Amino acid sequence: MLAPADLTRHFRARGLKVTPQRQLLFKLLHDNATHPTAEALFATASAMMPGISLRTVYQTLNDLAAMGELQVLQSGNGATRFDPNVSEHHHALCDRCGELHDVYVEAVDELHVRNLDGFVIDRAGIVFGGLCAPCQSALAKKSQRNKNCITNKELPQ
Ligand SMILES: [Zn+2]
Ligand SMILES: [Zn+2]
Repeated sequence: MLAPADLTRHFRARGLKVTPQRQLLFKLLHDNATHPTAEALFATASAMMPGISLRTVYQTLNDLAAMGELQVLQSGNGATRFDPNVSEHHHALCDRCGELHDVYVEAVDELHVRNLDGFVIDRAGIVFGGLCAPCQSALAKKSQRNKNCITNKELPQ
């Protein structure tokens, strides 16, 4: 995604209005690696600029996507998430916390895809499922605690 100042120029060149609300959204999206939903972005933007409407957020996201400045992603739970990283990349989705982060895959065009049935592939987006590092350590701590509880019960009174 372009820098906020360049986006402002592009929007104006297309005859689109650039309000302070839109400029805030450009800033919040630039270099944003969290793949926010429209609602998450709206929550952040509202905290900084009370009165911004969800409609403005949707409209701005749609305009940016139409200009090729944002990738639109459908995540596992059906939520639509937005990605300012428009270079070729793929994603790792955490089963526990829903964190989605960018991963890079080599030789994607060499994958053997079966059962295409005449389908012509235009692009590939791979989502790897699993556990992010913080969730792995949270789960490890939890199971450690559970073990400690059992050990304590087994101790003679
Ligand atoms: Zn996680
Ligand atoms: Zn991404």
